[in-house]
Amino acid sequence: MFEGLAMEIDNLDIPPCAEAISEVLALRDRLDAKITGAVGDFDAAGLWDLDAATSMTAWLRQHGAMTKREAARVTGRAKKLRELPVTAAAWQAGELSGGQVDAMVAVLKPEMLELFAEQEAELVPSLAGLSVADTSRAMGHWAAHAAALADEPVPESRGLHLSQLLDGTWVLDGTLDPESGEVVGTALRMAESADSDAEPSRTPAQRRVDALADLCRFFLDHQNHRPASRHRPHVNVVIDLEDLQGGGGGRVVDGPALSRAAIQALSCDSALHRLVMAGRSAVLDYGTSTRTIPANLWNALVLRDEHCRFPGCDRQSSWCEGHHVVHIADDGPTCLENLVLVCSRHHHRLHQPGWHAKLRPDATLEVTDPDGRHWTTAPPRAGPLLV
Ligand SMILES: [Zn+2]
Ligand SMILES: [Zn+2]
Repeated sequence: MFEGLAMEIDNLDIPPCAEAISEVLALRDRLDAKITGAVGDFDAAGLWDLDAATSMTAWLRQHGAMTKREAARVTGRAKKLRELPVTAAAWQAGELSGGQVDAMVAVLKPEMLELFAEQEAELVPSLAGLSVADTSRAMGHWAAHAAALADEPVPESRGLHLSQLLDGTWVLDGTLDPESGEVVGTALRMAESADSDAEPSRTPAQRRVDALADLCRFFLDHQNHRPASRHRPHVNVVIDLEDLQGGGGGRVVDGPALSRAAIQALSCDSALHRLVMAGRSAVLDYGTSTRTIPANLWNALVLRDEHCRFPGCDRQSSWCEGHHVVHIADDGPTCLENLVLVCSRHHHRLHQPGWHAKLRPDATLEVTDPDGRHWTTAPPRAGPLLV
């Protein structure tokens, strides 16, 4: 039926230049627009039924060799465009791109189609020529405005999923409403810390993970549901006394094993609770919990260090924890001369193999990385400290 087009494609030679590629992409887009129109009409007439398919999507999967996701997307877009003749015509004429049309139909929930159709003759020309991102933004404004006029909340799909995989890592995936997205995006940006020269650089995605964990830790440190002013740690870890003293690992209650480095970073600044067990079930003694760093000492540490002391980091004290330069397991004392304030990320860094920290009598911190490079940082205020 389309021998002419087939022949044109057969004879087509696309040179690898920007102009040629843009031009054929625009032509393909206009062909997509025509196909979408035909799919919409085919679907509306229920003609897929003649081919013994159960739906338009099923028909496209079988006869259009599409994935389930792609078939659902094409069907959904075709259905909506049947209600929006001006938009469909602008796409076919090449005035709107397929990307713009996708951005539009993503915003247009079924209950909004009628209102948009009434206004599309005025709205579509103003969208022509915009980027996909700007089209999406403009449509978002229109939808919010339309919902406000109708006195209805903007329909939205929201959800957040967090699940742990068998290897102990977690997968976080979610869809946020515009306002929550702004809040979360801004908080993540503000909570991000820069890479220090003293450590390997991180990817932007890795920096966001660290920022999110810091935000959650900050909330847990400062939440008011419990009377104590500082709550640490926020995970319950089980470790045998012998392992703690001997530098062994431990595990989260009912959870995965933790490395020696993680256990040491947690036990540097935590509440320790003695629990003497006989076997796995009989509790012989349940002692009171003891802070590894008592409140007064913590305040003195904050006065001296003010912020994270890792080279190049200035994370404020409210985001920090105390690090025993000589660890408790190695009989390091809990006193100002053996403690240094570090943010959680750099605390864990210091407990990684090959990293060393040393505190001089004048509170200058010396950090050595696995390659033997040294950095020193002085406390913000030199001189005698009254505590
Ligand atoms: Zn530590
Ligand atoms: Zn830091």
